[in-house]
Amino acid sequence: MAIETDALIVGAGPCGLFQVFELGLLDIKAHVVDSMPAIGGQCAELYPDKPIYDIPAYPVIGARELVDRLLEQIEPFHAQFHLGQEVQELAPLDGDRFRAVTAAGTEFHARSVIIAAGVGSFQPRRMRLTGSEPLEGSHVHYKVRDQADFAGQRLIVLGGGDSALDWALALHDKAASLTLIHRRAEYRAQPASVVRMHGLCEAGKMRSFQGQLVGLIAEQGRLTGVRMQDLKGDHHELPADQLLVFWGLSPKLGPIAKWGLNLEKNQIPVSTETFETSTPGIYAVGDINVYPGKKKLILSGFHEAALAAFAIRHRLYPQEKIRLQYTTTSTVMHQRLGLKE
Ligand code: FAD
Repeated sequence: MAIETDALIVGAGPCGLFQVFELGLLDIKAHVVDSMPAIGGQCAELYPDKPIYDIPAYPVIGARELVDRLLEQIEPFHAQFHLGQEVQELAPLDGDRFRAVTAAGTEFHARSVIIAAGVGSFQPRRMRLTGSEPLEGSHVHYKVRDQADFAGQRLIVLGGGDSALDWALALHDKAASLTLIHRRAEYRAQPASVVRMHGLCEAGKMRSFQGQLVGLIAEQGRLTGVRMQDLKGDHHELPADQLLVFWGLSPKLGPIAKWGLNLEKNQIPVSTETFETSTPGIYAVGDINVYPGKKKLILSGFHEAALAAFAIRHRLYPQEKIRLQYTTTSTVMHQRLGLKE
């Protein structure tokens, strides 16, 4: 069964979240899809603990806190989130609606679509070593589907961020052996995880190794080990059955390129009045769009979301005259915000 909606937002970064708010003020409910399992786009994935200094009225706010505040602000509008699923197909359905389908098979029939896809879907940074590709899925992994797959295996976890440390800590007592390999001695993960990892290494329950992965050793399509170069330049061979790679994420425009929209250097040109794309009914806000003078800043996306919401309201209710109402004084706005008069 397809989900019918007035508005489908592709991307749960800060601009997609604020789009929920601006649509909500105009009484339009939205569904939001993101390919990532967590809400927050670049703020959550790339710099959650960094301070931002150019969000109006916040002299300084952490990126994670900004996402939390946006979620709090959109609470009254009960948007439905569909996370961990990339929107892969988007095409006109009939004169009035669009059909969107995600990688998980969720189908939407939406009267308007807002692409707030930032710099694209985040994909895991892949290993580019000779012979790594045929081992992907069997011996080289970018996510853990089932922890049981690694039970009793000689496991190497690559990376120094939260994902690498979290999985190393979770799997060390299930694997036959576990080695964490990171290119330097400093880890980006939460300090508490790093302390725990060092404790487990000291207790001989896992190993950590600093250096570069330089080669894979495989026999008849089966991984048996890896070649490493340590920080002094010395070479080592480590036995391994399975590799879990957590080298961070890089954005890819991905399926958006196939949706029949005009593109300019992987960005979507829009009208600065409505933020509509070359396809009427499809809008683009935030980092994904381009127009003369565009600045890829969160506050630009917030402004764009406000104007797009008015344009969408007009598309959905063309006969209606839309009045600008202040949230300070409008009783209609107060009702939509769920405030008690
Ligand atoms: P994003 O935050 O990129 O979110 C887009 C979301 O769309 C992603 O979660 C992605 O997974 C999802 N997506 C993409 N394609 C699909 C698809 N097909 N299906 C489903 N989901 C999809 N800006 C400032 O204003 N001030 C700053 O100080 C600042 N500091 C920054 C520091 C760093 C290190 C970086 C990297 C950026 C910084 N920025 C800053 C830029 C700011 O983060 C971006 O402008 C902002 O994140 C754009 O928001 P967005 O919602 O448009 O896109």
